[in-house]
Amino acid sequence: MLKIRAGTGYDIHRLERGGDLVIGGIHVSNELHFVAHSDGDVLLHALMDALLGASGQADIGELFPDTDPRYRNISSSLLLKNVLERVHENGFEITNIDCTVVAQEPSLQPFKPAIRENLARLLKIPADAVGVKAKTREGLGAVGRVEAIECYCICMIRARTQP
Ligand code: MG
Repeated sequence: MLKIRAGTGYDIHRLERGGDLVIGGIHVSNELHFVAHSDGDVLLHALMDALLGASGQADIGELFPDTDPRYRNISSSLLLKNVLERVHENGFEITNIDCTVVAQEPSLQPFKPAIRENLARLLKIPADAVGVKAKTREGLGAVGRVEAIECYCICMIRARTQP
């Protein structure tokens, strides 16, 4: 019987003016930055929680606590590498992922192809198994006031086929 699992993840981080902004491992602005213990990459954080949830593991808050100095300013790409290893060790491989980033500013439309390619590279899956959507909040709420950026992610994983 084919063993298939789904997982969802969500994250939000506050924004401040100035500095550099990285989303999905791609530099997208030099006018805003996340206020966060790590690099605040909301897309990679939501993605990690989706993968961990699907494979029956603890969430990133438990695995990489923001009270632990080891994770201060750490690149989320490194954490994702660790999560991918955990997914594989638990006997799964990724079927596909799909993400929606909600940002009023900067416009992420021009960066979607680069983010998609980067996620495919990090996860070692084809680009057509990676969905990246960029939405605004239509000016509403904290995201609409450019005080935060959030991301929703879903993933599908399946039991690894025997070699
Ligand atoms: Mg986070």
